Amino acid sequence: MKKSLSRSILITLLVFTLLAVLATAISLVTMSYFNEEGRFEDMLVNKARSSAQILEEYSLDERIELLKDQFPGEERFTLINSEGVVVFDTAVSGTQLSNHAARPEVLGAEDAGESVLVRRSQTLNRDTLYVAERLADGSVIRVSQERFSLIAFLGSMALPVGGLLLCAILLVVALSRFLTNRIMRPLAKVDLNNPLPVDAYEEMRPLLQRVSDQQQQLVRQNEELKRADGLRREFSANVSHEMKTPLQVISGSAEMIANGLVAPGDIQEFGERIYSESGRLRALINDVLTLSRLDEASIDNAEKMPVSLLDIVSIKCEQLRPLAEGRGVNVAFEGDDVIVFGSEALLEQAVSNLVENAIRYSNEGGHVNVVLQREEVAGNAQAVVRVSDEGIGIPSEDLDKIFERFYRADKSRSKETGGTGLGLAIVKHAALYHGGDVSVESTLGEGSTFTLRLPLKNPEAD
Ligand code: ADP
Repeated sequence: MKKSLSRSILITLLVFTLLAVLATAISLVTMSYFNEEGRFEDMLVNKARSSAQILEEYSLDERIELLKDQFPGEERFTLINSEGVVVFDTAVSGTQLSNHAARPEVLGAEDAGESVLVRRSQTLNRDTLYVAERLADGSVIRVSQERFSLIAFLGSMALPVGGLLLCAILLVVALSRFLTNRIMRPLAKVDLNNPLPVDAYEEMRPLLQRVSDQQQQLVRQNEELKRADGLRREFSANVSHEMKTPLQVISGSAEMIANGLVAPGDIQEFGERIYSESGRLRALINDVLTLSRLDEASIDNAEKMPVSLLDIVSIKCEQLRPLAEGRGVNVAFEGDDVIVFGSEALLEQAVSNLVENAIRYSNEGGHVNVVLQREEVAGNAQAVVRVSDEGIGIPSEDLDKIFERFYRADKSRSKETGGTGLGLAIVKHAALYHGGDVSVESTLGEGSTFTLRLPLKNPEAD
């Protein structure tokens, strides 16, 4: 069965009310019964005593006459002689009664002069109260009277109590309807889209607060999703745009060669152009793949392992030396032996992008300095890679944008040197993936310093 507020209010009220009414009725009736019984007993004892006092004065025959004439009434009088023989009884002919010598009330009176006792009847309905008095000659006068038993008395109260219960039930039904309506009224007013302003019950505040929090969280998540979706669309549009130019160059050059429009002496130049544009395409595709892998966070912690940054940085500097020499740039490297916990491939790419940028944006004869250090910042050990150049620098208004995808501060230099516009975005993503960050300081025309910081602590170790 479904839970219902009105039903549970009704049942609770009913149970409590019925119990209360019944308990009150039973205890009141019982109390008044015992009260009544006490009075009844006192009365009968007094009657027995005064009868005994009167009878004492008379002979046996006179006693019988007296009992016949003087004491007719609701009570039953029994005169028993000292042998226990019933001499006279106002209710039954004395000769029909057996010897009463062994009756407890008679024995009691012989012992103590007076005895009072109640005999329960078989039918439960009626009890009989006996009071026996011993007379001076050894005979006993017994006065008895029937009365309702407690159960019969309670039974006689059933009708009024039942009526009371019925009234109580009707009252309770009406009350529970009223209460349910009253309780539900403020609840019905709650607007789940905007739950807080309603003046609902104090007790509901935590619930409404939670609904409101979740509502806001949903709104935020929605905004976040929309933003992410927007960024993804923009990224896809940018990727296709970036691919178009090299593809046009490749297909245009290839078409001209195929149609025999290129003089034999120029074929080599066209081949070189096709080769370099396909290299640009390859680099773009690689960067896009790396970024989408990072976006989907498909590199999980299981792929992290201890990696020697010293090895990575020195090898990358070595690999990029030909590029640097081709541009007349000098690359210097010094470093501590630092081990970080992470993805080797990603760290290689991040370091490589920074050093390659420093070379590409340097002027002929420039110096690139790469330093790898272990530093202590606020009690946390960090690996720090600093890549400085004396190149063209970055305008200050571009400084916080260069880590965005496809943002180029110097478009022509980027394209001319084969840039994809994604290098720094990958560096930033890789830094965040390792729990670190990347920052830049630069002066236009004087050079730039990129700083990549990675925490040394193994996050798995906690
Ligand atoms: P790109 O492939 O165009 O170099 P990046 O994401 O690596 O793309 O860099 C973004 C932009 O930041 C570059 O286009 C360039 O304008 C600027 N930049 C990056 N590194 C340097 C540097 N060392 N010196 C000057 N400008 C830089």
